[in-house]
Amino acid sequence: MSAQTLNSTRQVSDIPLIGFSDKDKPSSDIINSCVHCGLCLSSCPTYRETGLEMSSPRGRIYLMKAVDEGRIGLNSEVFQEQMSQCLNCRACEAVCPSGVQYGAILEASRTQIEQAKSGALLQAAPRTTGGEQLGMDQLRAKIPPHPLWRRALQGVVFGLLFKRMGVFRVFSKAMGLYQRSGGQWFARKSGILKLLKMQDTEMMLPPISTHFTIPKGQIFPAAGQRRYTVALVSGCIMSTAFADVHNATIRVLQKNGCEVMLPPDQGCCGALHVHGGDMDGGRELARRNIVAFEGLGVDAIIVNAAGCGSTLKEYGHMLYNTAWRKRAEAFSAKIKDVHEFLAGIELNRADLGALPISVTYQEPCHLAHAQRITTQPRTLLSAIPGLELREMHESALCCGSAGIYNITQPDMAAHLGARKVNNALATGAKVIATGNPGCALQLAGQLQRRGEDVQVRYIVELLDEAYRNASASARR
Ligand code: SF4
Ligand code: SF4
Repeated sequence: MSAQTLNSTRQVSDIPLIGFSDKDKPSSDIINSCVHCGLCLSSCPTYRETGLEMSSPRGRIYLMKAVDEGRIGLNSEVFQEQMSQCLNCRACEAVCPSGVQYGAILEASRTQIEQAKSGALLQAAPRTTGGEQLGMDQLRAKIPPHPLWRRALQGVVFGLLFKRMGVFRVFSKAMGLYQRSGGQWFARKSGILKLLKMQDTEMMLPPISTHFTIPKGQIFPAAGQRRYTVALVSGCIMSTAFADVHNATIRVLQKNGCEVMLPPDQGCCGALHVHGGDMDGGRELARRNIVAFEGLGVDAIIVNAAGCGSTLKEYGHMLYNTAWRKRAEAFSAKIKDVHEFLAGIELNRADLGALPISVTYQEPCHLAHAQRITTQPRTLLSAIPGLELREMHESALCCGSAGIYNITQPDMAAHLGARKVNNALATGAKVIATGNPGCALQLAGQLQRRGEDVQVRYIVELLDEAYRNASASARR
């Protein structure tokens, strides 16, 4: 063996394996509950795209187990890449016969990576190839931080925009101005976006509503006799870009005998933070929302975005080891996805007018897999007179949106988006119905790129239109 090879071997063996630290450690019990049966593989979008074991749920759990047991380090590039490539769609969790809570260990693994990359104190894994335990400064140096652009993006997105709703609204207004002033037209035509490699990201910018949903304690009375009192989660992007969906949701709830409250001081649910590995940021937002909705005495807290609903239902888990646990569990117990709620009460069918359109339903992952809500959206669509529901192939396969996945994994996101839109178009339906802003943006971006004349609509918007159609014909 040459001196150079010897030196290289020595350098490699001297690198300590960085293990999981105690704070937000992925549960060894959950990791070890996987029996490696492989029944989840065919449900996994990244495995179906790549055919690689390491890009499958089983492969990723193997990697987590290897870090947990000190066989590879948190600083392993394969580990980090696979934790990033996973969509957190939780399709694997929904089909797993052993009940492996995959989402919990993935989010904890990402949190560990982000803690390490942000320079938090690390600990050497119990077993190291070099044997020597290095000091904390040396360990910190072994995990390179994210590139500057990514740290800046995360700082702005996680630390500012989604934490302060006032700032988020100013940003949304600026985006709306960009769209309406001709700035968007110029940016697209001039090729500036192409130069900055931003044309795909920019294409997903939704038309920003001119009137935002600003929760100030408003109360919207029930139409007719009050059957329920509910509060609505306004959220972040839903309250600006998708404010019209909120208005439709309020009208549909009113039509179904609900008095609807919009409690002040609520904000973003924290889903982006939790999915992106900023668990503490998610907890901060969770505590704010718990306070905002506490003591209202409502029958349910309604959410119309699947990704938000899934996180809001998990506040109890996020704050489990804190003094907030009981309050968080009480809050989560009240959360109802709007489809779950409407299908669970006696839906007002009498006031639904005809809506003669063909619709295909694309299932948001955090509705179908994380919340296991699959029949209710179809029940609501089928209740609309004249609406023809055409089922698409792979309706529950992730569309590739997944938070900032379009930015971190653009190729995989584009492949999955194209696959979903191909399946939707094959039905010949003129509308793709969904229930999550990320999916809506991903699908609309794909359709726009292809110049397809197919709309993306929320199910509550279709219900609202049907109710309004009946009112309009009654007036004629
Ligand atoms: S996650 Fe579940 S389905 Fe997948 S290999 Fe493990 S035990 Fe089997
Ligand atoms: S969460 Fe989705 S992408 Fe990730 S391993 Fe499970 S099925 Fe695959």
